[in-house]
Amino acid sequence: MRKWICLLSVLAALPAMAQEDYLARARKLSKQYIGIDSHIDTLQRVLIGKVDIGKRSNQGHADLPRLREGGVRAPFFALWVPTYFKGAEAVRRTLDLRDVMQQVLDRYPDQIELATSAAAIERIARAGKIAAVLSAEGGHQIDDDLAVLREYRRIGILSMTLSHFRNNDWADSSTDKPVHNGLTEFGKQVVREMNRIGMIVDVSHVSDKTFYDALAVSTKPVLVSHSSCRALSDVARNVTDDMLRALAKNGGVIGINFGEGFLNPKDAELLKKSINAISFQAPDLTGKALDDYAATEYRRDLEQSVKPFATIDDAVAQIDHAVKVAGIDHVGIGSDFDGIVAPPRGLEDISKMTYLAAALLKKGYRDEDVKKIMGGNTLRLIRQVVGQ
Ligand SMILES: [Zn+2]
Repeated sequence: MRKWICLLSVLAALPAMAQEDYLARARKLSKQYIGIDSHIDTLQRVLIGKVDIGKRSNQGHADLPRLREGGVRAPFFALWVPTYFKGAEAVRRTLDLRDVMQQVLDRYPDQIELATSAAAIERIARAGKIAAVLSAEGGHQIDDDLAVLREYRRIGILSMTLSHFRNNDWADSSTDKPVHNGLTEFGKQVVREMNRIGMIVDVSHVSDKTFYDALAVSTKPVLVSHSSCRALSDVARNVTDDMLRALAKNGGVIGINFGEGFLNPKDAELLKKSINAISFQAPDLTGKALDDYAATEYRRDLEQSVKPFATIDDAVAQIDHAVKVAGIDHVGIGSDFDGIVAPPRGLEDISKMTYLAAALLKKGYRDEDVKKIMGGNTLRLIRQVVGQ
């Protein structure tokens, strides 16, 4: 009898032991790649919440210690400006975000450094620091002026999404009624100029037609920084299988978004409702009054309590689907941490990223494949766009 109990307890412990093995393997493997997440919204917490991301916190989803813990050594910090910031106000807001990023860089020079090329990312990661990649989130932020776009590139902003939640003057958004039938002529000029100055064209948030227009114009691979697959979760922010195939042809990369509605169809309904609830009415405010409005909106978003159905298994299924359709060289991670309401169970914050690598190993992905997904593909894209 005793022997049986002993055997049973060994059997019960087996799955746990196997899980540990994958995690140990993933942790070892994470030393061999530069973990890249092509979209986190942590700068909103710094600008609005005055959070010190040099210290580990259990609030929000990312800070420098948790990035290190998760092996994410090159996060794309989004400079997200809501579309109700119009014209010069959107430029001002972008500079405010760039300024708080600089405050972090100046305060923790031993922990984090700005990176504007693949070579810089490699050098900074080798030095044991976080390589900060900057990304503007919303084409309206250039105020319809290519000189502003070029200035952004000069102050270290390496990529830009062509639109955000609403259409702008030259690009249709996936979450608005189309008015331009994709990109306008000026929108196409924006893409050409981004190609020319070595800036990554990010097609997350754009309408399907804008996506295809951007791919037709771009001579460089494009990035879908934070979207998932519509075949598994049918929301407009995700991409279709046809778009995945076009992306592969272009040489681009999709960073899978961990937002619950992006991952799991049961959560998608709620996401659709909350997108529809976003007001079309922009407040008629400027300056500090507009900043205060944005802070209130931001805090209200955070207060939503959502119990997600999505788990780490949904993230793995999304990655697996994208790999099957687009190929192993075109899939990465764009978690959207600090921009999503309810992260999936098992991937509660960015410190858990190694668990995702472990889950991919468990699914049967080879070490080389996991390295590509966790950062290798996006690093290759940066090198192709920037030229170094
Ligand atoms: Zn976004």
